Amino acid sequence: MIDQIAPGSTPALKADVLVEALPYIRRFAGKTVVVKYGGNALAGASEGDALALFAQDIVLMHAVGMRPVVVHGGGPQISDLMKRLGKVTEFRNGLRVTDAETVDIARMVLVGQVNPQLVAAINVHGPLAVGVSGADAGLIVAAPRHPELGFVGDVTDVNPTIVNRLLNEELIPVIATIGSDLSGQAYNINADTVAGAIAEALGAEKLVYLTDIEGLRRVVDDPTSLIRQTTPDELDALMANGTINGGMIPKVESCVHAVRSGVGRSHILDGRIPHVLLLEVFTDAGIGTMVKPNTEPATTPFSATTPFSATTGALL
Ligand code: ADP
Ligand code: MG
Repeated sequence: MIDQIAPGSTPALKADVLVEALPYIRRFAGKTVVVKYGGNALAGASEGDALALFAQDIVLMHAVGMRPVVVHGGGPQISDLMKRLGKVTEFRNGLRVTDAETVDIARMVLVGQVNPQLVAAINVHGPLAVGVSGADAGLIVAAPRHPELGFVGDVTDVNPTIVNRLLNEELIPVIATIGSDLSGQAYNINADTVAGAIAEALGAEKLVYLTDIEGLRRVVDDPTSLIRQTTPDELDALMANGTINGGMIPKVESCVHAVRSGVGRSHILDGRIPHVLLLEVFTDAGIGTMVKPNTEPATTPFSATTPFSATTGALL
């Protein structure tokens, strides 16, 4: 005789989790999700298997029909190689000057070390991930931010054709954030900014930042001040009053811009939490900080009078 599966038992809980995921799997099938994996989260990954867990999440999203795109940073890894090479970083007005040698080092680290690390972790699960840099097929066109900063670039144009082609082949693009100007000169570009620009260019459903803090705090030093949900207008005010500092600035700016430009939701999540992506995408539990539009178009409530297909149940 087959044993009964008792409610609350481990198998029953597993079934509950899968059932809870079902509406999310259906809602996000075919949708593009851009995930920025922070250099700090990655640096921490070497201490455990966080990178392997991240790769599992990306592969699972892909397996259920989503179109994940990974964008990564590598600031700590660049600083590390600079130190090992004995290269002293020059700061001007608090900003790192990127000379020709430094941008070479950044490219070596991002394209030669961090990118293949992510690609390899994903491809443990099958031939899925392809690494590209912003210089490939004109993906990210850059221009100098300021003459005094050298090869620190801003994004001036995104040509997402190469990413769309990979997605259409059911591959997972993994993007290193080196951009190129029209003469072929490489620039180091902030990975948060690139992730936002790519999400916009792809018309992504979601833009997700995985970082090393639980989300956006209303008071930087107070871990209990997590902002769970916010809007571009509220974030503008928080930027203006100095709540948002340092590495959080380009994330918030990009979330605001992306959501105003049609990306459905932006999220700032703690990349140190195992499977944080799955928790965000496939469960009812809200996690980290979610940015949604100031006003959302009213969704048509389902009612008995709403016409729908008797055979498929789909709304007509
Ligand atoms: P990443 O590698 O993910 O880009 P960063 O160090 O650049 O990481 O950015 C995340 C950091 O931003 C946090 O660790 C935190 O110190 C800082 N930060 C500044 N303002 C805030 C804020 N209001 N809420 C949360 N974190 C903040
Ligand atoms: Mg950063």
